[in-house]
Amino acid sequence: MIREFASTNSAPSDFKMERDMLLERKVAVVTGAASARGIGRATAKRFAEEGAKVVIVDLDAEAAKAAAADLGSEHLGIGANVTDEALIHDAIEATVARYGQIDILVNNAGITQPVKTLDIKRGDYDRILDVNLRGTLICSQAVIPHMVSNGGGSIICVSSVSAQRGGGIFGGPHYSAAKAGVLGLAKAMAREFGGKQVRINSVTPGLIATDITAGKLSSDQEAAIIDGIPLARLGAATDVANAALFLASDLSSYLTGITLDVNGGMLIH
Ligand code: NAD
Repeated sequence: MIREFASTNSAPSDFKMERDMLLERKVAVVTGAASARGIGRATAKRFAEEGAKVVIVDLDAEAAKAAAADLGSEHLGIGANVTDEALIHDAIEATVARYGQIDILVNNAGITQPVKTLDIKRGDYDRILDVNLRGTLICSQAVIPHMVSNGGGSIICVSSVSAQRGGGIFGGPHYSAAKAGVLGLAKAMAREFGGKQVRINSVTPGLIATDITAGKLSSDQEAAIIDGIPLARLGAATDVANAALFLASDLSSYLTGITLDVNGGMLIH
């Protein structure tokens, strides 16, 4: 299908072009996509704009359904905690029952906590590792067999610059560890399932303006952070959504096991 496309970048160009939609006939599951200003929601929206049927999986069923309905009636919202194997299994089975296939999974659901090493309690560690890392494994385990039997797929794991630079701006060391774990897990899964044409890649966002950090940084802190970003702004959820779109689509057909930085140059390595 052909449609008109206008760039949504913050430095908009005035070109328009006509082209095929990138995710026509694809079915995508995006976890943690109910949050209105979040990376998951922006990704779900971007995927839907490119022709995908999108399944939003988030903690609160009503919020997930409302977010899906917002995208259009052909999309689906399901309430499930990514740390709960049985619930995720049911969510994936419901997706396959409705659409017959899953082509794309975005492991986006995540939580953070701004504490220092000596203040990390066992429960904090468990919570942060469970959602960010175990959740990525559980959702991937539920989806991969369907991708394999369908001839392939693309999984995008949302890690963080925090994993790469030894601590982010906001999350504590346990968050860095969880997100570094995500990178290792994604690379190992990429190696294991490449032969089945399941591509598995990660994105490492820098500081993105969403509810995960909203109101938690003073304007002085924000200015100091922007000072260290060559592109001189915080990231937008759409910046990450566009990177996820690239990895989800056939534009990245020969990429697996990569880590795609979406950080405005905050970390250049
Ligand atoms: P957000 O808080 O706006 O969205 C997170 C979403 O995940 C929410 O909808 C929440 O309900 C959902 N969620 C949380 N725990 C869940 C669980 N157990 N099961 C299912 N859903 C769950 O945050 P965001 O900034 O959009 O973050 C999205 C991802 O990007 C996270 O993995 C985060 O760690 C990562 N990230 C964010 C930034 C940033 O600066 N915002 C930077 C790097 C990485």
